[in-house]
Amino acid sequence: MEHYDIAIIGLGPAGATLARLLDSDLKVIALDKKQQKGEEGFQKPCGGLLAPDAQRSFIRSRINLPLHVLANPQIFSVKTVDLQSDIECNYQRSYININRHAFDLWLKTLIPDSVDVHHDTLCKRIKKEGKFYRISFEEDGSTREIFARYIVGADGANSLVRRTIYPQHTIRKYQAIQQWFPEKHAQPFLSCIFDNNITDCYAWSMSKDGYFIFGGAFPMKGGREQYSTLKQKMTLRSFVFGEAIKEEKCIVLCPSKWSDFVCGKDNAFLIGEAAGFISASSLEGISYALDSAEILANIFNEQHIAPNAAYLKRTGKLRRKLFGKVIKAKILTSAWSRKLIMKSGFADIPLA
Ligand SMILES: Cc1cc2nc3c(=O)[nH]c(=O)nc-3n(C[C@H](O)[C@H](O)[C@H](O)COP(=O)(O)OP(=O)(O)OC[C@H]3O[C@@H](n4cnc5c(N)ncnc54)[C@H](O)[C@@H]3O)c2cc1C
Repeated sequence: MEHYDIAIIGLGPAGATLARLLDSDLKVIALDKKQQKGEEGFQKPCGGLLAPDAQRSFIRSRINLPLHVLANPQIFSVKTVDLQSDIECNYQRSYININRHAFDLWLKTLIPDSVDVHHDTLCKRIKKEGKFYRISFEEDGSTREIFARYIVGADGANSLVRRTIYPQHTIRKYQAIQQWFPEKHAQPFLSCIFDNNITDCYAWSMSKDGYFIFGGAFPMKGGREQYSTLKQKMTLRSFVFGEAIKEEKCIVLCPSKWSDFVCGKDNAFLIGEAAGFISASSLEGISYALDSAEILANIFNEQHIAPNAAYLKRTGKLRRKLFGKVIKAKILTSAWSRKLIMKSGFADIPLA
């Protein structure tokens, strides 16, 4: 059975970035359930907005986005609607509107040949055996096993790696629901919607490549009904829906306390959303995926060993920043303080 230094589970923004940045003398295997090309198979539901912090990560790597990753149009203002106080404001934002699936596939193309990449492959089980992790995965209809000294869970919100190494760990989560409609608005726009009667998180809409995407983060129970109610409410505010051509659903994490961030242990590491690294105030997670991958790659590359303590220490700043978002989210999701902020013009909402 083959032995590797590092096994990366998941090649979203976090895993693909780690795989790109690791030194070529490390023997690395990367497993990802997405197919290598095209529109078939798993696609990550996402708003596809690249925040300034994510843009900065690409600047550090001197990488520019190719045109096929960009979506049409680029929008620089967010219409923020508070249904409870009936206040509507427009705020400036510097997001890049991207096609998320094209972005994910492009990130995978940047991984050097030194990494043994397995596309369309599902990791089923991991188990610590002595100094190694035994990793079982399904590929081309059969089950294969390999060993790796270090394992990295870059497998997103529902991380198998996190569930295996922290079986008791729980973190606040929502059901994210998005529907896609042919765009019928005269002017494309981006919006952010608050209504505490529907969800204590928030909802959004965006125009992308001729489609109008309407989505939100809803309670795990009854989320579908809340989604429909919100759609009805927004119809009264001139949102045009029509027939949905696609519906997407997934779990989205929303940290609510310091212990929600988990970095890994026993030579297993978590990066990106698997570690709970996502903004509680805006659900923006791509930049934290890129940043945590870069931190872990630097540790592996400098020492060729990656003690968990070093990763825990070096993600301290990132975790403190994310904890700040937890506090911001508490302010945002209180109808009273949100109304005060929106009326006073004191700050932009969403507080990214
Ligand atoms: C509806 C929605 C809208 C969002 N909008 C935005 C936004 O506009 N901007 C933003 O910055 N963030 C947004 N986020 C958050 C953002 O999508 C995530 O935080 C980010 O994708 C995390 O990156 P990641 O690499 O950690 O995980 P992921 O992007 O989830 O990637 C993990 C990858 O692992 C693979 N995988 C998972 N399990 C296995 C397995 N068992 N075996 C093999 N492969 C596996 C999958 O292929 C998956 O692509 C949104 C989230 C949701 C749900």
